[in-house]
Amino acid sequence: MRKPIIVGNWKMNKTCKETVEFINAIEPVLHDAADYGVGAPFTALKDATATAKNLIIAAENCHFEDNGAFTGEVSVPMLEELNVKYCIIGHSERRTMFGDTDETVNKKAKRLVKADITPIVCIGETEAQYDAGLTEKVIRDQLTGSLADMCPNCVKDIVIAYEPIWAIGTGKSASKDDAQNCCAIVRDQVRKMYGDDAAEGVRVQYGGSVKPENIKEYMACEDIDGALIGGASLKVDSFTAIIDATK
Ligand code: PEP
Repeated sequence: MRKPIIVGNWKMNKTCKETVEFINAIEPVLHDAADYGVGAPFTALKDATATAKNLIIAAENCHFEDNGAFTGEVSVPMLEELNVKYCIIGHSERRTMFGDTDETVNKKAKRLVKADITPIVCIGETEAQYDAGLTEKVIRDQLTGSLADMCPNCVKDIVIAYEPIWAIGTGKSASKDDAQNCCAIVRDQVRKMYGDDAAEGVRVQYGGSVKPENIKEYMACEDIDGALIGGASLKVDSFTAIIDATK
């Protein structure tokens, strides 16, 4: 039985003060039906982990090297020191604006797993790829690269976020059938690469314009184990409504 996991992705939003206020407001509404978390900016992580009791605190990126001449980057040991337990990697905004590739995502995933930090590996097709009928190929190719050479036992504990790029921040969410179908392809690809235990253990999120009104229909799908949520995770009201809807 996989426990669902719902994670907000705050992107470049929230100061330390706003982070602490948000966490203090959300903690009392959390429940056991799922794991809940937020991806917070690097600057807010220390305050976030010090404040959170049950809310998972995730970083939104990391570097795969431990130190060196990488101006502006943050390494996995630096996240470990802040008590961070999850890290989003390969978000489409990182892939399109900051040069992340399947190869660098793979290096990040391996380094995180070594530190016992759970990677949330993001993948998903562009609108042009969707229109051209390439979605399945894109999903399989991205997973082949992003999850290469990992141990099956590690893969069973990671999280994969399937996020069609055309649905991120657009209000154009994928239909529940499309989302289920693509998350099933994700699981099938994990099975092909790492076997049954990894495929049955890995948690697969859908992401792309998830909100309180549609979360339930995604969560009812067999292969969808949660959601990665941008816009609707920024306000206490909407994130609370999502938490309530997943009881
Ligand atoms: C995201 O940023 O990963 C995302 C899914 O954003 P939104 O929920 O706003 O579409």
